[in-house]
Amino acid sequence: MRFDYHIHTPLCHHAVGEPRDYILSALSAGLDEIGFADHNPMPTQFDDWRMAPEDLSRYVSMVLEVREEFAPFPVRLGLECDYIPGFENHIKYLAAEAPWDYLIGSVHYITPEWDIDNPKHLKRWNEHPVDEIWEAYFQAYAKMASSGLFDFLAHPDLVKKFGRVPDGDLMRFYAPALDALEKHQCVIELNTAGLRKDCKEIYPSYDFLREACRRGVRILINSDAHAPEEVALNFDQARQWAASVGYKTITRFVERKAIEVPL
Ligand code: ZN
Ligand code: FE
Ligand code: FE
Ligand code: ZN
Repeated sequence: MRFDYHIHTPLCHHAVGEPRDYILSALSAGLDEIGFADHNPMPTQFDDWRMAPEDLSRYVSMVLEVREEFAPFPVRLGLECDYIPGFENHIKYLAAEAPWDYLIGSVHYITPEWDIDNPKHLKRWNEHPVDEIWEAYFQAYAKMASSGLFDFLAHPDLVKKFGRVPDGDLMRFYAPALDALEKHQCVIELNTAGLRKDCKEIYPSYDFLREACRRGVRILINSDAHAPEEVALNFDQARQWAASVGYKTITRFVERKAIEVPL
């Protein structure tokens, strides 16, 4: 079973291609299913890389329209939600706003002002020790894993995006996140977008993934496509990583119910 559940749309202002172009790409890649998950609206505009609050209903109807157009090909309705402490009730509000198949939880912000994957703020990486940034990131990720708000969690070590990586064994940073993922029986994604960034590596790292498998943390494989040609890109490497650390299954989501299927 092959699917890609982390697909953006132009409503977030930094992805190109209409939903139907992504579906055509999924069909030509031989996928059995596709799911959209654009960046969630915040209560206010907040930043320049997400849908506006008034675009949420447009987003939902856009996805439901292509679902109808391409039936019986399954088109899932999801949303990539920023986990920012203090906005938990906003996530609960969003959860009730549409018939979601899944909500993805993401840590992009380590403070309400700093989205660590934003190239606009690259300068800030020189103003803080890299260890401190990594620690804050994985603490936030652990908190997200404990929140119970999401169906699966995105790009587990996104903090490596720009290739700023602390010295030594990184398990000391991963540990709190892995503990929370295990304790709360979370599902994480292998996200192949990392291969297209400076870090040139799937999120999460091989070591993180091996430890996640050992702890029974379930997975799925996503591209985080921001353009149609990125759908299912580099899935072969992700499947190979998953298999070689011991994974036998991946997890689908239908109406917020998890369904494990063979890898
Ligand atoms: Zn994006
Ligand atoms: Fe993200
Ligand atoms: Fe994304
Ligand atoms: Zn993402």
